Amino acid sequence: MTPAIPFANTYARLPERFFAKVSPTPVVAPRLIQVNRKLADLLGIDPDWLASPEGVAVLAGNRVPEGAEPLAMAYAGHQFGNRVPQLGDGRAILLGEVLGRDGIRRDIQLKGSGPTPFSRRGDGRAALGPVLREYVVSEAMAALGIPTTRALAAVLTGESVIRETMLPGGVLTRVATSHIRVGTFQFFAMRGDVDGIRDLADHIIGRHYPDLIEAENPYRALLTRVVERQADLVARWLLVGFIHGVMNTDNCAVSGETIDFGPCAFLDAYDPAAVFSAIDEQGRYAYGNQPGILHWNLTRFAEALLPLLAPETEDGIAVAQDLLAAFGPRFEAAYYGGLRAKLGLTTVEEADMTLAGSLLEAMSANHADFTLTFRRLGDAALGLEGDAAIRTLFDDPGAYDSWRTGWRARLAKEPLDPAERRAAMNRVNPAFIPRNHRVEAVIEAAISRDDFAPFHELVTVLAKPYDDQPAFAAYADPPQAHERVLRTFCGT
Ligand code: AMP
Ligand code: MG
Repeated sequence: MTPAIPFANTYARLPERFFAKVSPTPVVAPRLIQVNRKLADLLGIDPDWLASPEGVAVLAGNRVPEGAEPLAMAYAGHQFGNRVPQLGDGRAILLGEVLGRDGIRRDIQLKGSGPTPFSRRGDGRAALGPVLREYVVSEAMAALGIPTTRALAAVLTGESVIRETMLPGGVLTRVATSHIRVGTFQFFAMRGDVDGIRDLADHIIGRHYPDLIEAENPYRALLTRVVERQADLVARWLLVGFIHGVMNTDNCAVSGETIDFGPCAFLDAYDPAAVFSAIDEQGRYAYGNQPGILHWNLTRFAEALLPLLAPETEDGIAVAQDLLAAFGPRFEAAYYGGLRAKLGLTTVEEADMTLAGSLLEAMSANHADFTLTFRRLGDAALGLEGDAAIRTLFDDPGAYDSWRTGWRARLAKEPLDPAERRAAMNRVNPAFIPRNHRVEAVIEAAISRDDFAPFHELVTVLAKPYDDQPAFAAYADPPQAHERVLRTFCGT
């Protein structure tokens, strides 16, 4: 019989100090919340099997499937700027890797599956709320076209976890092209373990960036590639109003995927200083700080790679500084290019970023909803009738009026006809994002009423963020004043 999950593991072949072998801890009463059928299919797993009692037993950690080699990965990191030499998977267990139908290798990991040697004082468990949030937001990011870890399934454990209160426990099955973080490199660097750094770098290059094997210096090329992927990623975040919330170096994946959806949030009204995470007292990870913080994280990555960049430390530092300098221009190209597309511009003019900047300033001064303003610009690009629905988003509608004249003059120089332009704009300006108040409502219904219908509906709507879905129009609405979410919690 072929195994139900076609494991083909490589991380487990790395030296033993890279991880701790540990099995999930069984739970009392597993109950399926949702299986991501399309993703299961992509991974070569039968979705019906995964939703069966046997599959759910695997998803809950009650049964270790054939071919799995469960382990907790070791990593370190900087948390809020502070060096922490040992973190590691404290509540996550890697079952193994599969090669998908698309030929891409991916990790399958249980999150909330019990203690590991890295749990420190934690219980190794996850509360239902964060499990649902990660499922909703990571799948929404994927549908938006943004590199991200995915959610294969969510289950209830039938057990309670103790946080501020007693809460139902859950397990999320996370899928990632890998779970290797900047902090994984730091784990070895903080121990002066150069062999470990090299083995890990070779693993990453072979796994994610095989074209770099041919490079003159593959490790320098690796740093460059990660800088590029991460610069592109943070630009994509800004362009949809995403605030990660806890950009510690252990939450920064070298694959360039978004990882760790703890206290994340989306902008409603545009505000570069927006912070939602309750633990981010200084606003270190505010919306507009994210590119700068990412550069800081990539500098920590370069430091960890130093011994591989050049034989002498001083030469390595010079190389690292040189390669890190590519971050700014790469980020700006991605961000400005994205802003241009959001405004419906396909050609480049020098004053375009002034035009974009003045819209963002007007939005910020007038509490205009970020997502809706851009979405409705598509209609306004069709004709003046579209303006009314945008004006109402600004405290002072006159602020939009003063901006639109310059924008229309700029559009007049564009080659596309208005209908094509609107279609192109709607492909980059989503109608639907996982609005914080919707995510909270989903969690509330699940916890207080055992009602998962809102969760299923939200996941369905967010699977097509760029389509007008008239039946679900209300999901595009910003929160009413009393619905506004001011704080998010990572809930660990
Ligand atoms: P995070 O804030 O999710 O990035 O986690 C930071 C560190 O805390 C990681 O090493 C996690 O594995 C660990 N951690 C978070 N929650 C728990 C928990 N409930 N039990 C054990 N370890 C945890
Ligand atoms: Mg984390």
